[in-house]
Amino acid sequence: MKRIPEPFRIKMVEPIRVTDFHERKQALIEAGYNPFLLRSDDVYIDLLTDSGTGAMSDRQWAGLMVGDESYAGSRNFFHLEKSAQDLFGYHYVMPVHQGRGAEQVLFPCLVDKCGSEKPVFISNYHFDTTAAHVEISGAKAINTLTKNALDTETFHPWKGDFDLEALKHQIEVHGSENVAGIIITVTCNSSGGQPVSMANIKEVSDIAKQHNIPVVIDSARYAENAYFIQQREDGYKDKSIKAIVAEMFSFGDMMTLSAKKDPMVNIGGLLCIKNDTELFQACQGRCVPMEGFVTYGGLAGRDMEALAIGIEDSCNQDMLNYRIGQVAYLGERLREAGVPIQYPTGGHAVFVDAARMLPHIPPEQFPAHALACELYLESGVRGVEIGSLLLGRDPETGEQKPSPFELLRLTIPRRTYTNDHMDYIADAIIEVYKRRDKIKGLEFEYEPSILRHFTARLKQVK
Ligand SMILES: *Cc1c(COP(=O)(O)O)cnc(C)c1O
Repeated sequence: MKRIPEPFRIKMVEPIRVTDFHERKQALIEAGYNPFLLRSDDVYIDLLTDSGTGAMSDRQWAGLMVGDESYAGSRNFFHLEKSAQDLFGYHYVMPVHQGRGAEQVLFPCLVDKCGSEKPVFISNYHFDTTAAHVEISGAKAINTLTKNALDTETFHPWKGDFDLEALKHQIEVHGSENVAGIIITVTCNSSGGQPVSMANIKEVSDIAKQHNIPVVIDSARYAENAYFIQQREDGYKDKSIKAIVAEMFSFGDMMTLSAKKDPMVNIGGLLCIKNDTELFQACQGRCVPMEGFVTYGGLAGRDMEALAIGIEDSCNQDMLNYRIGQVAYLGERLREAGVPIQYPTGGHAVFVDAARMLPHIPPEQFPAHALACELYLESGVRGVEIGSLLLGRDPETGEQKPSPFELLRLTIPRRTYTNDHMDYIADAIIEVYKRRDKIKGLEFEYEPSILRHFTARLKQVK
């Protein structure tokens, strides 16, 4: 597969430390076999997340210097408002400190507006903080993701789609008057950064309209999703990314945005509403005490400027060709060597299927987490488990919940690592793959009762 060269040149560098095996072994033992507990100085290539880890452009850095730190009515807010209105086509724009800030402001207002005693939200798949904020607002989070997503081996272009029959069924079961919102997550993180087709977005929006349910677009990776529509969906080949993004958002009523993803800032987010003035006013009432005054929402003026520029740059075709090409290249190198991955690769990450790679390690010994540890020891590369360790125990029975996947996520930050780094990562995983039979499972030394994957300590099974 052809490598797409970087469409930028480098004018500032951040050295990263190359470590040897013994240093890594020591660091991993101190971290209790939990890569979350490593110091980042002990990590050579960090693939924990693509959130807030991208490299800003020279234009964004220059924007930091023209920050207007006025408490109200900062000029950077008006630039940000205009950038967002121009791209997404929604009238009301509210900055927030990051994506979950938009969730904590919006969801209780939607629950109030719905007025139901037993409200629900239905999504293709709720992101973890999204599900948490749905529940905090007193509602239930229901996922209706296409079953195609579960089959990691078979190519399907739209593994982020809603299962439309399941969506209709859930509306019927709960009653449309109890559905506070339908949340379209683009791309769908949980199935591997997989795209949602325009046809699916449109049908979801039609169904919502029939039942008078508002549509929220959870839009962290809107540009990556638009790129897949351009490449894969009939009728979009000659459309610009900007035009496709505008069409996607025309099917929604409001959006929450983690700007730490496609708009390429280290911190920031947005809540935008198409035209519902009453809802916007209700959200303003929550924004002030929770995030900050409505023209800064927890961001410095300079951060809003960097975000305004990041939104303008996010639809750059060369950058997206390179970005998605880089992820696909890493995936292709692994596939050629026989390493099982979620196929095709999505926008922001390669997911290695540890259940298929390490069938001798049972779920309760966390095969994907064991693989993450082994990869770190081999190379200093840090990935993250998405599987049984993350899912945890059933709070009622105390039993491990059965996980549909055991995946190692290798999340690629934007513009941060070069294609040579991708080769280094691929070589390391292939080395680990060759000795996969010798990899041992893990057991707890310390298991926290909530969100255990962040702070658990483990050891190798004898
Ligand atoms: C990251 C993310 C969020 C949460 O945003 P934060 O900026 O991390 O608070 C919500 N939804 C999706 C789809 C995301 O990727």
